[in-house]
Amino acid sequence: MAKSLSPSRPFHYPQPGEALYCGTVSIEKLARRHGTPLYVYSADQIVERLKLFQSALAGREHLVCYAVKANSSLAILKLLAGHGAGFDIVSGGELERVLAAAPEAAGRVVFSGAGKTAAEIDLALEADILEFNAESEAELELIASRARRMKKRARFALRVNPDVFAETHPYISTGLTEHKFGVEIGKAAAIYKRVASNRWLEPHGVSVHIGSQIRSSAPFGGAAERVYKLVKQLKRAGIELRNLDAGGGLGIEYHAAPFDAAAKVAEWAKAVTCAIDGFEGRLLLEPGRFLVANAGALLARVLYVKRNGSKTFVITDGAMNDLIRPALYEAHHEIVPVRPRAGKPKVVDVVGPICESGDFFAHDRALPPLEPGDLVAILDAGAYGMAQSSNYNTRLRPAEVLVEAGKPRLIRRRETIADLLGPEIA
Ligand SMILES: *Cc1c(COP(=O)(O)O)cnc(C)c1O
Repeated sequence: MAKSLSPSRPFHYPQPGEALYCGTVSIEKLARRHGTPLYVYSADQIVERLKLFQSALAGREHLVCYAVKANSSLAILKLLAGHGAGFDIVSGGELERVLAAAPEAAGRVVFSGAGKTAAEIDLALEADILEFNAESEAELELIASRARRMKKRARFALRVNPDVFAETHPYISTGLTEHKFGVEIGKAAAIYKRVASNRWLEPHGVSVHIGSQIRSSAPFGGAAERVYKLVKQLKRAGIELRNLDAGGGLGIEYHAAPFDAAAKVAEWAKAVTCAIDGFEGRLLLEPGRFLVANAGALLARVLYVKRNGSKTFVITDGAMNDLIRPALYEAHHEIVPVRPRAGKPKVVDVVGPICESGDFFAHDRALPPLEPGDLVAILDAGAYGMAQSSNYNTRLRPAEVLVEAGKPRLIRRRETIADLLGPEIA
């Protein structure tokens, strides 16, 4: 079994015939203690991933702004802030999370998103965030008017759309002019020049983000090169930008294949830093998935195993409301039994109890024999797992445990029916 777990994951079988561990912590014990479905994360791996970026960029001024939307758990935000990370947020709610978990990090926050409201802008001005990644001229106007009311100067970066193609799922590709994000790079210089005289706006940076789960480094280099060209053009026009934000989007390996995270980061850093060779300001980056995806697993217990025609269904107590990536993006997640049984692998569908055929974790997957009561771990679920969970079918969202230096800690208790019904009025 050990072969399906690469060293890039914190989950492993210490000995053949033994059950799965997260670091030195028994997964079976966690499931007994906290129930299932349950998210388990390795804090050590999250910090290790952050440090890969920090050391790859050690030679230059930089700031890693973790993309909060990948996993917005307060404990994880606090952990990352404690190791020097900044944050990329896309809503006022995410800013509230950063302020709750690590108020000292407010000055390390960049605010992305194509639809910021006046209330969200006010909140960010109040918190004195590092900069707004503005996505349109109209948004800049609104930022300026809110800043004027508050008598504060708003630092902004224009998010430009570099028209660079990146191979990924269409739902998470964002860097082409056909996408709703940013302003066309060809129009950016004129916008900077138009607003340069506005006393409530401070041109502070430029940002780009071309999509998510991008496995090759070439498109990152391509985008950074176009952005740096713009920076140089603006400098000649007397507008000096201090920050160049290269965005997030570096992909991980979801299949059972070797994956060298350190080499990936080195390759990314090389592509980006070569593209901006000569830039003297600060390099910002916004990784989300790469920091947290491999660090997390969703544990679920097998409820039933049943045959329908030629198919065998393994029905678990976890469902698409807990982890929607397979349904939403046809995403692949490796699934492993927590205590593997002897016997030949069987081809099965692993599904949840929700009344939708989209409620699945795997189709036609060869897995070791599974029986009711067995635990399975759905791997690489640390990013866009809990963050995209819902209460569909009036299901209570999972509890979450963070394992740090061999110590597991509950970081979110399981929801109760009172949590769920509380806001409703009959
Ligand atoms: C989603 C997003 C990110 C993070 O993407 P990952 O693929 O998780 O690294 C970074 N920046 C912006 C603007 C985003 O929308």
